[in-house]
Amino acid sequence: MWSKRHEVDYALQRQRRLRALRGPQVMLEDADALDADPVLLRSATHHGEPTTVTCPVCTQGMLTNLNYVFGDQLGQFSGRIKSTAELEEMQNEYGEFTVRVVEVCTNCGWNYMISTYLLGDGTRRRPPRRQRTVEDIYG
Ligand SMILES: [Zn+2]
Repeated sequence: MWSKRHEVDYALQRQRRLRALRGPQVMLEDADALDADPVLLRSATHHGEPTTVTCPVCTQGMLTNLNYVFGDQLGQFSGRIKSTAELEEMQNEYGEFTVRVVEVCTNCGWNYMISTYLLGDGTRRRPPRRQRTVEDIYG
């Protein structure tokens, strides 16, 4: 993606977390890594982008990636999951927003934020006018 910048890779932290999981004493907080939120698992099943990476924990499932977008300029769309194709379009429509990539194994529940980066054309815009959603109508 042409506007990708300020990328932070969490590979080292991920390795540390994985080593801790394999250690003799699994710390409570590490066990939490596998206690995936049901919403996260559902999102991964329906919106996750398949990868060719085998899950490092259970070695059964393939990992799927979720791209979460955040930013003032996104308005009500901040916090949503977007496909790579949607990100390609969005980088031309917004000045700046953050993408957080989370890998998820729907088999064992392993999940980890593997990287973050910024996208956008640098031209600041006002957030889009709020659109009515299904929640507004039926919520
Ligand atoms: Zn797994």
